[in-house]
Amino acid sequence: LVAEELWARLHIRLDQARFLRERSDRDSLSGLLLRRPFLEALDRYLAAAQRDHGALSLALIDIDRFKKINNEHGHLAGDAVIARFGQLLRQRFRFEDLRCRWGGEEFMVAFSGQTGDFAEIAVKRLLDEFASLDFEIATGGSLRATFTAGVAHHPHDGPSAEALIRCADDRLYEGKKAGRNRVVRWSERLT
Ligand code: GH3
Ligand code: MG
Ligand code: MG
Repeated sequence: LVAEELWARLHIRLDQARFLRERSDRDSLSGLLLRRPFLEALDRYLAAAQRDHGALSLALIDIDRFKKINNEHGHLAGDAVIARFGQLLRQRFRFEDLRCRWGGEEFMVAFSGQTGDFAEIAVKRLLDEFASLDFEIATGGSLRATFTAGVAHHPHDGPSAEALIRCADDRLYEGKKAGRNRVVRWSERLT
């Protein structure tokens, strides 16, 4: 009986520790992983992908014309868009897909075991859903937002997290230049 009670107490302590750890790994506005825990998990996924010759893809997502949203509707309206986008990212995708608030209005998703083609389709579907959301604004009416994303795929686009992120960032930049509201999977630039 005493052993059982100790066992139960130990479980409660472990649950509390996990809760605290997960909370400190997360951004409070979006509920998504912070950059550092995301990068640590991404490195583990990459090591596994290299070991098993498996796929791994990632997308860097940046909300379009966010400064305009802040300027026209206020910082709180901007925060609400970030919070709702975080919720959408948490609700969609699989448990093992890493979803991170990279910073500001930038986000990263890593799809374990999936190719760039899969990531492109999944993020396009996310864009369709996000772009169709109406955000109520305090002064009445509503606003809509879009994003641009760059997708990179291991091993094709590079061996390391750094190389993949740089590649996704280049494609995101190309998507912005090409008019925003799109997902860029292949570089249009000739190299
Ligand atoms: P682009 O389509 O080129 O991405 O245009 P943009 O206006 O989104 O460009 P940029 O990335 O330079 O601007 C991001 C802005 O996001 C700047 C910053 O003031 C705002 N921002 C960053 N973090 C937050 C936040 O937590 N809340 C709010 N409301 N705004 C934020
Ligand atoms: Mg940005
Ligand atoms: Mg932006």
